[in-house]
Formats: sequence, C-alpha cells, structure tokens
Amino acid sequence: MAPPPTEYPAPPDLARDVPLASFTTIRVGGTADAVSTARSFAGVVASLAWARERGVPVAVVGRGSNLIVSDDGFRGMVLRLAGRLTSISVRGATTLWCGGGASLPRAVQRAAAAGMEGLEFGASIPGTVGGAVAMNAGAYRSELVDVLDWAVLCSADGRRRVGPADLDMTYRHTSVRHDEVVAAAGLRLRRGDPDAIAARLAEWRGQRRATQPQGVRTFGSVFTNPAGDHAGRLLERAGCKGLAVGGARFSPVHANFIEASKEATAADVVALMAEGRRRVRDAGGPVLHAEVRYLDPERGITRPPLPEIA
Ligand SMILES: Cc1cc2nc3c(=O)[nH]c(=O)nc-3n(C[C@H](O)[C@H](O)[C@H](O)COP(=O)(O)OP(=O)(O)OC[C@H]3O[C@@H](n4cnc5c(N)ncnc54)[C@H](O)[C@@H]3O)c2cc1C
Repeated sequence: MAPPPTEYPAPPDLARDVPLASFTTIRVGGTADAVSTARSFAGVVASLAWARERGVPVAVVGRGSNLIVSDDGFRGMVLRLAGRLTSISVRGATTLWCGGGASLPRAVQRAAAAGMEGLEFGASIPGTVGGAVAMNAGAYRSELVDVLDWAVLCSADGRRRVGPADLDMTYRHTSVRHDEVVAAAGLRLRRGDPDAIAARLAEWRGQRRATQPQGVRTFGSVFTNPAGDHAGRLLERAGCKGLAVGGARFSPVHANFIEASKEATAADVVALMAEGRRRVRDAGGPVLHAEVRYLDPERGITRPPLPEIA
C-alpha cells in the first residue's frame, strides 16, 4: 500500500539505521531508525512536522554528554543541529548569539576572547548550548538561567522566542519538552577584564582536572545533588567508588561519575546506577534521582529505567 500523502517532504538528509554510540560521550547504545540533521530554524520545524505527521517519535541529541542510549537503539528519528545552528557570534558589547548546536566550551572561549565575563562556568561542560539550556546546566554556583537572555524554541508548530521566565528553569530542570528544540540562544554577559577571565578559566579547569576523571568515557554527573548534600559524597560513603557492573564502574576519582570500558553496554550502566542508588538508600541516605537522560527505544528521551525504591 502506498504511504499516505504528506504535506511535508522528508527531511533532505535523512539517514537510516545510524549507530548512536558515537553521538554520546559514554559511547554505548544501539542504532536509530533515522537521523535528521537540520541547518536552519525552518529545517528544524520541517523535520519535526514531518515526523509528527507520520507518528514518528523524535529525540533531540546535542553532544550526547548527558545521555545513555538504550542497547536497543531508538525506533524513531534523532534530530541534530548543524550549519548555522552551530555558529557563535558576538552581538554588541555583552551579547553572544549561539546556535543551539554550538559547543558550550567554544562559546566560553568566544566570550573570553571578546572580553565578556559570566560564562566561564561552562568551560568544562562538554555539551551544546541548546543542551545546556534544556538541562539548565551549571557549575561553580552559576547556571544557564543566570546568563540566558532569550531562546528560540522550535516545534512541529513553528518557532517562538522565549525568555528564561518562560522556561521554569530550576536546578538541572526546565520546561523544554522533548519534542521541542532549543535552536538558538542569546546569552547576556558582562564586560570583564580579559586577564581576570583567563585566570578564572585556568583555575576552574585545574580544579576539574584534580577532582574529576579525565580521558574516559563518561557523561558527567549521574545523579543530581539532593538538597544540602552531594550525590558523590553519598555514593562514596555507601562504598560505591570503583564499584563495577560489567564494563561500567563508578569512577575511583569521583563517585558521581560512571566510566565505561569499550565493552560496556547501556544495560551495565543502568544496572550500576540502580545498585549505587540502592546502596545509598540502604546506608540511610535519600533516594537519588538521575541527572542523566535515557533514550528509550519506544518512548524517546526519558529517565533511566531504575527500579522503584522506597
Ligand atoms: C566530563 C563531563 C563533565 C560534565 N560537567 C557538567 C557540569 O559541570 N554541569 C552540568 O550541568 N553538566 C555537566 N555535564 C553534563 C552535560 O555536559 C550537560 O548536561 C550538557 O548541558 C548536555 O548537553 P548536550 O548537548 O550534550 O545534551 P545531550 O546529552 O545531547 O542531551 C541531554 C538532554 O538535552 C536535550 N537536548 C540536547 N540538545 C537540545 C536542544 N538543542 N534542544 C532541546 N533539547 C536538547 C536532549 O534531548 C536530552 O534530554 C558534564 C558531562 C561530562 C561528560
């Protein structure tokens, strides 16, 4: 039977059966049925509309630096940003225009080179600007919400410009839906002394090198910090540092990081998360909540499938 006529043409560069592991920093997981790469706001909207019209689930993937892809891959379309939507430009004395697919560390460099301060906290957050907005990523007591002026959100219905107050941005949370794309963002920074900015960047990078695993397959924080405590401290206290399941282990350097070997699977990573969470609870700690997102074969972007614990 011929497929139903569609209003929207298939995205021009739709690739089929694409392995996703290399789209993520932990490098596990299976194959997506389709990957679409959009280079403009109109391209993002058209891809989303095409998928919606056909009932194809969509998952937006940036640098995959806080994402576990299921071993069974994804029965839908992964959407990535490219071209102009990865660019960064200085606008006036204090504004940085960033495509949603632009590298956050590169945006930090660009701001520093232009004598703008306020974004240094992002230097070691290896994601995209769109991913950082969607996650309200942060470090050193600053978060994206502190610098976000506006964002362009695209959905299958079109695009709209929103401000931080529209996005309900709290600790590692926003109201950006999984079928919406942060296609661009304007960051409002401050004029700063280039030497002071460079010194801060060097200091914070040095701190990272001293306290977090380097040169390993990882996705950053596994769990969010519960109020008044640190997930890393709780995991360490529960004896999780170095604990392994299959090819995944809690980092001996920082317990709230998981390191994956070349043989690791997504199932290993999720089973290790479940074990760490159970041990923290058994040691009298709180129930930890995943910070990392999970790409489920059928449901798209969701939380990792951890068993309920009381
Ligand atoms: C070594 C290391 C250190 C890290 N340190 C930190 C840290 O200090 N602080 C911190 O907050 N995080 C940290 N992270 C985690 C991660 O870098 C951030 O969460 C980052 O913001 C994720 O961006 P991404 O582009 O990689 O998103 P992805 O991992 O690709 O996706 C994460 C989520 O964002 C969504 N998303 C991605 N792009 C878009 C978009 N354009 N529009 C809408 N939704 C989108 C995805 O659908 C998914 O739900 C670290 C990760 C690593 C590997």
